[in-house]
Formats: sequence, structure tokens, C-alpha cells
Amino acid sequence: AKVAGKNCYRFYSRTMDQAVERRMRMEHDLRGAWGRGELSLSYQPIFRTRDRVLVGAEALLRWNHPDDGAISPAVFIEVAEQSGLIESIGPEVMRAACQEAARWRTPDGAGEPPFVSVNVSPRQLRSTDLVQQIGTALHEAALSPERLHVELTETAVISDEANATALLARLRETGVRVWLDDFGTGYSSLSHLRRVQVDGLKIDRSFITDLLRDPDDLALTSAIIAMAHSMGITVVAEGVEKQGQYDLLRERDCDLVQGYWLGHPLTAAEFAKLAG
Ligand code: C2E
Ligand code: CA
Ligand code: CA
Ligand code: CA
Repeated sequence: AKVAGKNCYRFYSRTMDQAVERRMRMEHDLRGAWGRGELSLSYQPIFRTRDRVLVGAEALLRWNHPDDGAISPAVFIEVAEQSGLIESIGPEVMRAACQEAARWRTPDGAGEPPFVSVNVSPRQLRSTDLVQQIGTALHEAALSPERLHVELTETAVISDEANATALLARLRETGVRVWLDDFGTGYSSLSHLRRVQVDGLKIDRSFITDLLRDPDDLALTSAIIAMAHSMGITVVAEGVEKQGQYDLLRERDCDLVQGYWLGHPLTAAEFAKLAG
């Protein structure tokens, strides 16, 4: 059905060029962005569901572009991943998150200072020295490994299971906790959990969004929690935006919660005040 006239063709090709150009410009700008101080981490609090004691934080990357302002990580992480830039940004994120966490103190009611949870992308997972990289970051910050959590998406782990299984085992031997992110969105999740040993899983936000309206989502969430617990795995629900969702998750024995209703991502300084 490509019978459009010449002008039409030019139009399409021009918009395509624009998309490619935007992407190339973003890649160009992203290179060196860390060094110029345009990238920073925000920290979203994670609470124990039972008593809402602060137990951790997820480190989330922010890019304040000099001309365009805040750019969504959903957009620039993908560019960083595809261009390979994540291989230089990732270690910086790991280092900064560990340094920051080393300054946190034990909040009221908690037995220890909050852990920091760092997102690791599929490409980083494939890099051969991830374990060493993490070891260096911990050592430099003098942070105990138990206080670092690494979040990997379910799909990243499943798409490269043989490699991931070995790598995760090595990571866990060092004492770092491994979490599966966006759990429930990948497929055939449950059977993989038996082979890929993890410490925790984060139920994807899409299940939590409709928790109060959709009986299927509630049933699935409850099943995931029960199954995880039977395997000794900790469960976090993310994207908790309403008290009703929190109440249900508490009733269903979900271990940890994270979301706008409990706390938005904070600057490092703001979070440090919370953990003091
Ligand atoms: P994610 O790992 O699933 O992170 C959770 C996202 O949900 C964050 O978006 C967070 O701000 C947002 N969020 C938290 N609570 C709520 C809520 O109650 N409601 C809603 N609607 N959203 C909530 P953010 O910061 O935009 O990050 C998007 C994604 O970018 C992350 O998804 C993660 O996949 C990726 N990302 C962020 N920082 C890093 C990083 O340092 N490294 C890597 N590899 N990926 C990162
Ligand atoms: Ca995450
Ligand atoms: Ca997630
Ligand atoms: Ca649904």
C-alpha cells in the first residue's frame, strides 16, 4: 500500500530522520553528562508494611538536561542501554549509591540503617566484571554488602538464564541481595524462580494499580506473595498510591511497600534527613 506520492514519501522520511536525529543528539548529550554533573540519583523510601518503618530506598537516576530540563529515565536509560553508555554510567550509579547509603543512620524502629536498591540493566548484567565492579563500590564506600540490593528485571534474567544464574549466585555469595524487578510482567515467572535464586521480588506496579477494582490482580498478587514466602523470598509491592492498596497489601502479608502514597523519590539530602 505504498502508493503515496513523492511529497508524502519525503514527509515520512523526514519524520523518521527527525526521530533518528533526536536519538543521536540525546546519545551525544548523554556522553559526558555524568562528568558535567547533569546526572544525579534520587532515593525513594521503602517501608516495612507491618509498621511502616523505613527500611530502604531505591536509587533512581535523574537527568537534568541543560536545555531540555528533566528527561524521563524511561527514555534516556533505553538510549544508554542501546548505545552502550550504560556501561560507563552504571558503575558511577553504583559507586554514588553506595557512598550515599554509607551516610545513612538507623531510623526509629529499624534495627539497622536503610539498604540501598540499585537498578542494573540487562547490558550491565552481561558485562563480565559486574561482581568485581560492585565489590569495588562497596569497598570504597565501606558499605556492608547486606545493605546493597541489586534490582534486575525479570525479563533480563530470563532471556539469559544460564549466564544470569551463575552471576547471581556469585553476587549473593558476596552478601549482596538480589531482587527481581517488575515481577509478573515477564512470562513463566514462577518456574524460573526455582532455578534462579533471588532474595526478593518486586511485584510490578501494573498489578498494584488495579488491586482494589480487579479481583484477578488481587488474586495474582496474593498468590505471588504466598508462593514467594513458601520459598523464603521477600516481597515488595511498588506503585502504592492509595491507602486502600496499602491496607490490602498489609492484610495479604506483603513484606515491604513503596509508592507515592508512602513517599516520592527524594533528593539525597532529603532522604538523609529521613534516615538520621
Ligand atoms: P523502575 O525500576 O520500575 O522504578 C520505579 C519507577 O516507578 C520510578 O520511575 C519511580 O519514580 C516510579 N514510581 C514510584 N512510585 C510510584 C507510584 O506510586 N506511582 C507511579 N505511577 N510511579 C511510581 P522513574 O524514576 O521514572 O524510573 C523509570 C525506570 O527507569 C525505572 O523503573 C528503571 O527501570 C529505570 N531506571 C531508573 N534509574 C535507573 C538506574 O540507575 N539504572 C538503570 N539501569 N535503570 C534505571
Ligand atoms: Ca526498580
Ligand atoms: Ca519496577
Ligand atoms: Ca488488571
